[in-house]
Amino acid sequence: MIYFIGAGPGDVDLITVKGRILLCKADVVIYAGSLVWEEHLKVCSRDCLTFNSASMTLEEVMAVYKEHDSENAIIVRLHTGDPTLYGAIREQMKALEELGLPFEVVPGVSSFTAACAAVDREFTLPGVSQTVIITRIEGKTPVPEKEDLELLASHQCSMAIFLSVQEIDRVIEKLKSGYQRDDVPVAVVYKASWPDQRVLAGTLGDIADKVKEAGIDRFAQILVGDFLEGDFERSLLYHPEFSHGYRKGDP
Ligand code: SAH
Repeated sequence: MIYFIGAGPGDVDLITVKGRILLCKADVVIYAGSLVWEEHLKVCSRDCLTFNSASMTLEEVMAVYKEHDSENAIIVRLHTGDPTLYGAIREQMKALEELGLPFEVVPGVSSFTAACAAVDREFTLPGVSQTVIITRIEGKTPVPEKEDLELLASHQCSMAIFLSVQEIDRVIEKLKSGYQRDDVPVAVVYKASWPDQRVLAGTLGDIADKVKEAGIDRFAQILVGDFLEGDFERSLLYHPEFSHGYRKGDP
């Protein structure tokens, strides 16, 4: 059986219990070595075969699955964060389906939630935004035109921008024209939950300079929106006057 497992954002204790148990029992692990901390592999058995997918093609990864899959074998494909976001797992699942090889996806803590945790904030604030946009700027990999950053920013939702810090000037330019303001708060979180995590706070007006000064050009989340600074309303859920299925309010 092949398991696509989310390793979490960095900190090895942020993998799920299910993911850790499978990792301990794995016969083969293919890990995305550019972002997954090798520390995760310490729990693997001595006989476990490990492959770093950073230098492998899809075809080479598939060849490992084909060679090692058997009824009792546990093959782990360890992806960073949550495998369902920018994990390129769909193409693997399609190829496995064509070969008739069974697989399961074990979710993980994505770097966008880890980054929000690192700045002690909540994406969904009453009266501010109830929507989170997860996106990236187009680079070598295109993004559909209707999902251009400028257009998305015009919704004024909370945003988590992946894979884009190396293009910070272009990101900020698009966000400014989308938001039509320069004072929108931004936090750039480099290597969330790793020992060398760094957080930069600013606004659309000044964050690009801070990012360049800090030399951050990879491995970062760009969080944008008024959820980062300013007022919000108290939630009704815990309000004494509000009734719901589990609690009767006091009008
Ligand atoms: N599946 C992953 C994302 C893979 S794409 C997830 O759910 O997090 C890789 C991008 O994710 C990086 O370019 C960066 O933008 C972001 N990223 C991954 N780990 C990160 C971390 N620990 N801190 C900040 N950003 C991270």
